[in-house]
Amino acid sequence: MEPYLGKAAYTAAVLRSHHISARKKYGQNFLVDPGVLEDTVRAAEIGPDDFVLEIGPGIGTLTQYLASAARAVCAVEIDRSLLPVLENTLSGWNNVTVVEGDILKTDISRIAEEQNGGKPIKVAANLPYYITTPIVLSLLTGGAPIRGMTFMVQKEVALRMQAGPGSKDYGALSLAVQYFSDPVLVRDVPPSAFIPQPGVTSSLIHLRKYGEPKVRVRDEKLLFSLIRASFNQRRKKLMNGITGGIPGVSAEMAAAAFAAAGIDPGIRGERLTLGEFAALSDALSDLL
Ligand code: SAM
Repeated sequence: MEPYLGKAAYTAAVLRSHHISARKKYGQNFLVDPGVLEDTVRAAEIGPDDFVLEIGPGIGTLTQYLASAARAVCAVEIDRSLLPVLENTLSGWNNVTVVEGDILKTDISRIAEEQNGGKPIKVAANLPYYITTPIVLSLLTGGAPIRGMTFMVQKEVALRMQAGPGSKDYGALSLAVQYFSDPVLVRDVPPSAFIPQPGVTSSLIHLRKYGEPKVRVRDEKLLFSLIRASFNQRRKKLMNGITGGIPGVSAEMAAAAFAAAGIDPGIRGERLTLGEFAALSDALSDLL
């Protein structure tokens, strides 16, 4: 069956016939632009052998496109009032499983194990903007076998994912994304591509996951504590952020770690590259 929900008239008719409207509390903005939906499937590089996890299928719009291209799709939706709608809109596809639940509490490794024999899965989503960062971070750091992720996010978030040292957008999200993946901007998407229209421009971004993280580090947890401590107090010098922000690290230890890593203790976190964060983390882990 051909996907049809990308057309605004069909989406409006489905919402009307089920007596529902988009719920703000769940970040619901339904896509109504076939070109954007096709670009999403293309960017996600979905082929007939792929298993796709979709986050937040809504009324099933992107799901129809994913299911037409993939071997199978599992879609996790938090809003139980949409389940009867999904049953209806996805009835033409026999390769979709809808799971009711919060993606932040979903065992993705288990889904990959049960539905894809434990092999790496692809993730695609028009994300709910109110929890974009927690979702992306939990997918990146959660340890589930994931090959690539394609997301619709606010443009401002896409810029943060791609930002490098020295940019005002550079922060903990940039470093986490770039440690695990290569973020590729696919295209910007105007508010008119959604019902209802969000108040911001969106961007489609593809995170090409690395087989191994970008840099080697002895203690990944310490690296991310260090990164968080550095950006929690953005205006402070990194040396002070670390001393106050990581339990068990004294001013003397921090000074010794900077010296061992060959990094200026007067620097701000927003100037440090991922490689320098890794060197500092390894120097600290030697002292802890
Ligand atoms: N995929 C649909 C589309 O493109 O038209 C809807 C996208 S809408 C921006 C985000 C969807 O995520 C909504 O269906 C919303 O109910 C769902 N959602 C919000 N929070 C969620 C969560 N924590 N876990 C799973 N789904 C969630």
